Order: sequence, then structure tokens, then C-alpha cells
Amino acid sequence: MAGPPLSEARFERAAHRRSDQAWLAEAWERAQVVLISSRSATPVGPDNRVLVRAAADAPDGPRRFLGLVGDEPYFAVTAEPDRDDWKTLREFGAHADELDAALVVAAVALEQWHQRHGRCPRCGAETREAQAGWTRSCVAEGSEHFPRTDPAVIMLVHDGSERALLGRGPDWGEGRFSTLAGFVEPGESLEAAVAREVWEEVGVGVRDVRYVASQPWPFPSSLMLGFTARLDGDPDITLDPVEMAEAAWFTRDEVRRAADWTDGEQLAVEGTRLRAIPPRFSISRYLIDQWLSGEVG
Ligand SMILES: [Zn+2]
Repeated sequence: MAGPPLSEARFERAAHRRSDQAWLAEAWERAQVVLISSRSATPVGPDNRVLVRAAADAPDGPRRFLGLVGDEPYFAVTAEPDRDDWKTLREFGAHADELDAALVVAAVALEQWHQRHGRCPRCGAETREAQAGWTRSCVAEGSEHFPRTDPAVIMLVHDGSERALLGRGPDWGEGRFSTLAGFVEPGESLEAAVAREVWEEVGVGVRDVRYVASQPWPFPSSLMLGFTARLDGDPDITLDPVEMAEAAWFTRDEVRRAADWTDGEQLAVEGTRLRAIPPRFSISRYLIDQWLSGEVG
């Protein structure tokens, strides 16, 4: 199975061009422009392709060099929606072209970071965009600041046999379950974060924590790091009621049936505890599908 959506490099970032003003000016003239709103939306056609524009037709706004596809330069420009066909990746990602999704995810990650970092964390002075949108520079003391990525772990917990542990968040609909997840804390390894989050959320011990794949998720700045972990000890669940509405061990057959319902192949049976899992675009679903196919766990 290929990696999860958004995990493969689909364009060349060409970082050495970010400080080359003459090259950037020339490249802009022939650029394809991805428009991104402050709320992470982009114009999308009825076929779910992102509607890129020629530079001459692009609105004024912060301009960032995303990279190259072959010889073709792609830029992102921040602009507000002028029509109602603007959508976020959450809305069209499941049907998106892979190159489109990769360009949009980079543009959204940059836009979200720039919005939140207008002030220097060292001295509080204003910062300005530099390096074609990939850094910010302090106007008072010239310190350079780089985009943040916040690591989050997401894990498929299994019992080494036929069952996986899935949970339902407090705001989710009845019957909707997913893998557990949480942010890595300062001074913590990824493996320790997996074990801690599982313990905090459901009171279960794990061992054999294994890395599977990652997915950028810039809402606003997460990098989802996907793992499997095996039950160690007592499978009885003790729920953290703030983080989780419910959690349970489900068999492969139950999870497979919920996968079919989620993909719309049949209607879910009312009254069944597990009726839906995350859609195919998510790394959570990728981990679940890998476990269903026996490739992990
Ligand atoms: Zn400063």
C-alpha cells in the first residue's frame, strides 16, 4: 500500500531559489498561482481540481514561492474569496488531485504560520516575510524565524490478535470512532508520547510502539506521526471523560463493516455501537486500513 494522502513529495521545493530575487521576479511572470484565504480556502472547480491562475490574473496579496513542477513555478497568494466556489482541504481533500493537495497544504501551512507570527518572540517588534515567504525577519534586530511544525502522535492500538481500540471524542456524532491521538510534549520522545496519550485517554498500557507513516495537517501547524502500539497487560478501559466520550475494543469484522458504511457502500445499522470511522483522506483511516489488511499489528 502507498503512503497516506499528503505524504509524498509532489513538487520540488527548490529552496535555493527563495533568496534569488532576480530569479523569483522572472519566475513570477510565468507562474501558476494558488490562491489561499485567511481561513484556508482555495477556489475549486466542479471536478475538484484547484483553479490556479496566471500571475497576471492574480490579486495583490502576500506572495510565496511554493516550488517547481518540472520547469513551472508555483506561487501562493493570500486573497479573500470573490466567489462561492472556495473550499478547504477538509471539504475537497478526499477527491483532490495529489499535486493540488500538496500545493494547497504547503500554502495553508505558510499562511497559518504567517498569520500567527507578526511579532518577534525575542523582542516583540514587528516581523516581515523573507525568503519568498519561508521565514520572517525581525525589523528591530534582524533575527530570523522559521515556520513551526507541531508534532502530534496518532496510534492504532491493537491486542496483537483480532481487536483494535478506537475512541469517540466528546463532540463527535453517535457511532463515530477513530484512533487515539495527541500532541507531543516538550522533552518527550514520540514513543513516550504514544504510551502517555493512550494511558491518559483510556488507561491502557502499550508496548511495541512502531512508526508507520506521517501526514502534514496544517490546521494550523500539525505533523501527524502515525504509529501502531500493542496492548500490554489489562485490556480494561478507564476513560478520561474530558478527552473521550467512549472507547472500546472492536474486532476486525466490526471495523471492516464500519469502513464499508463510511465509504457509502451500504447504510449503517442503527443501534450498532461502531457505525463510522474516519474517511480515506485521513492518516487515522490509513492506519486502520493497514491493520485491517494485516500489514501492521
Ligand atoms: Zn526581535
